[in-house]
Parts: sequence; C-alpha cells; structure tokens
Amino acid sequence: MTNPSLLILAGDGIGPEVMAEVRKVIGWFGDRRALRFDVGEDLIGGASYDAHGTPLTDAVIAKAQSADAVLLGAVGGPQYDTLDFSLKPERGLLRIRKDMDLFANLRPAQCFDALADFSSLKRDVISGLDIMIVRELTSGSYFGEPRGIFREGNERVGINTQRYTESEIARVARAAFGLARQRKGKVCSMEKANVMESGVLWREVVSEIHAAEYADVALSHMYADNGAMQLVRAPRQFDVILTDNLFGDLLSDCAAMLTGSLGMLPSASLGAPMENGRPKALYEPVHGSAPDIAGQGRANPSACILSFAMALRYSFGQGAEADRLEAAVGAVLAQGIRTADLLSAPDATPVSTAGMGDAVIAALEAGL
Ligand code: NAD
Repeated sequence: MTNPSLLILAGDGIGPEVMAEVRKVIGWFGDRRALRFDVGEDLIGGASYDAHGTPLTDAVIAKAQSADAVLLGAVGGPQYDTLDFSLKPERGLLRIRKDMDLFANLRPAQCFDALADFSSLKRDVISGLDIMIVRELTSGSYFGEPRGIFREGNERVGINTQRYTESEIARVARAAFGLARQRKGKVCSMEKANVMESGVLWREVVSEIHAAEYADVALSHMYADNGAMQLVRAPRQFDVILTDNLFGDLLSDCAAMLTGSLGMLPSASLGAPMENGRPKALYEPVHGSAPDIAGQGRANPSACILSFAMALRYSFGQGAEADRLEAAVGAVLAQGIRTADLLSAPDATPVSTAGMGDAVIAALEAGL
C-alpha cells in the first residue's frame, strides 16, 4: 500500500523554521508509530516569487490538488511590500485556498492548562476550553458582487455584497455537523437573521440540513453580536460554532486569542471530499511570517506542529495519534518549557525554536 501524501509549503520568514520542527515530528511518527507519509516540498509566497517570479506556480497548484493534505508555514515579508498586488506573497495563499475550493475554515480555540494565565479572561472561565469555529471561507461579503468604490453624485460610495447560495450554506453546515459528531455533538450557528436576509436564509438552510441529516446533533442559533459577547462571557458553553465568512473572521480571532499566544494557534481549511472520502485540505498556523523574529530561532513552532496534529485527525484518520501529539505539546508546556512568546517573567530563559521541537519529541517519546 502506498503511503498517504503530504505536500509541505514552508513559505517565508519563520515558515521554514517552524516547519523544520514539524519535519522532526513527522519523522518521529514514521520511526516510532509506523505512520509514514510521502512528503513533498515546494515553494509558495516570496520564496516562490524569488525563484519563479510568481507567488504560486501552476505546478505547485497541481501538486496541492493531488496531495492528501497540504501543510503550509507562512508567507510574506517587508522585501515584497512594493511588488504589484498580483505578485505579493499573500496572493499565493489566497490562490491556493481558492483553487482548492477550501470552503470550511476550522479554527480551534483550545486552552492548554499551563497557559490559562496567559488569557485575558480569568482562569476559571477559560480553563479546559475546547471549541471549534467553522467559518465559511469562499463566499459571503468578501466575494459577493457588486463590489467596489463608485461615484454617486458628488461623493464616493463603497459597496460590498453579502451573498450566499443555499448550496454554499449547506456544504459548510455539513462540515460543522460532521465535526460536532466527532466532538461533543453540539453546533451553534451564528448570523444576523434579525437584520439580514442572507442571515434568514442561512438559518433556514442550516435548520433544514440539521433536520434531514444530523438530527442527532444538538443545534442552536444565535445572533452573531450576542455570540461575540457569549464568547468572552462564558466560552465553554460552545462546542462547534458555525458561521459565515465575515462574522467568522471576527469571531475566530476573538475566540482564538482567548487562549493566549499567536504562536499556539493551528487551523485547517477543508474542501470537498476526494476519492478516498477525505476532504481536500490545507493546514497552517494562524500566524504570519513574523519578519521581526525571522532567522533568530525565537519562533514558537507549536502552532505549526498542532496544525500537523489537525492533519492527522482530519486528513489521515489518526485521531488517537493527533491526541498523542496534542498531549505532548501540553506536557512540554506543563514542564514550564517556553519559547519567548510564552514568557511573561523578564528573567525567565526561553528555549529556541529547535529546543521546543526537541522537547515535543522528548514528550512524545516519554508518552509511549
Ligand atoms: P505575524 O503573525 O507574522 O506576527 C505578529 C506578531 O506575532 C509578531 O510580533 C511576531 O513576532 C509574533 N509571532 C507570530 N508568530 C509567532 C510565532 N510562531 N512565535 C513567536 N512569535 C510569533 O503578523 P504580521 O506581523 O502582521 O505579518 C507579517 C507578515 O506575515 C506580513 O507580510 C503578512 O502579510 C504576513 N501574514 C501571513 C499570514 C499567513 O501566511 N497565513 C498570516 C498573517 C500575516
């Protein structure tokens, strides 16, 4: 049997640094858990622009389309700021998401106990938090037409359009309900049905899909503004939050930062099922290329390592091994091992990017 395939696009800035630690982890799973992947590697973002004059080549898109999963580091850097918009590193990222039609963005907000004091919320509100935001990623206000800045009489008017078709709502709803079945079995759908017709349709379609296909999952609805309040008031009431592109952009950032540092936050973007029944998928840390610390060995590789854990769970059907990896990251934090972004005491000594990766490997080994 052939191994599942994984395409690594490390990108720019700290991307290659954090990805080097993920490679150690991938190697460990191959050696110690007989979980082997055919790993390919290629360029995206500024690295691709430097080599090919474009932030993403058609050849890399083709590789991404045929891989079982794509793992991405980060793109961008100040040296590319003056490039034409179409050549900027970030365009590579937008294109790969669009070409793979990755319509469901999964952003977990999980609080590692050792980091509970990092949250802006009180420990007793945040401790044990484990929620998943499912954000629609390829439609809604960021894509709807008409859009633009137009002249009306003697002033300009800026227009964006919130537009959703039934099928766009249905497919992301199915993704959320499917996830809830693997979790605590609850979905809270958030929109603004009180003031937006697209929200009315969203609520109707989500309810229809629920009744017809996922009646075993508990469904509730909430206006997105109340959802934002509830997220900071009592976040543990949620399991899976399903929402559109615009509200999801805000709610997922809010939920994620409840748990502490950008260096800890993974994400997944999922598309339609492939022949093997698993979704097309791209996994990446939420953070960017962090040019301010690139090349200094100060980046926290945890977000990228936890993104690989999501790949194990959602693309490779290895939920128990994903749990093992997440527990290893938790164990490292519990030992007080920290990269610089997770240190509040000025006299504390951080570990390097490689030191954090090595500590995760040691914790995996200790957990066998
Ligand atoms: P950023 O996420 O790169 O950095 C924000 C701050 O968080 C910086 O101070 C950085 O040092 C810190 N940080 C980020 N990741 C960290 C990690 N793993 N460990 C320790 N500290 C970390 O956001 P930015 O500074 O706004 O953007 C920098 C570049 O990255 C820009 O070119 C931007 O366009 C790009 N960007 C890319 C992505 C992506 O690839 N998905 C996302 C956001 C920004």
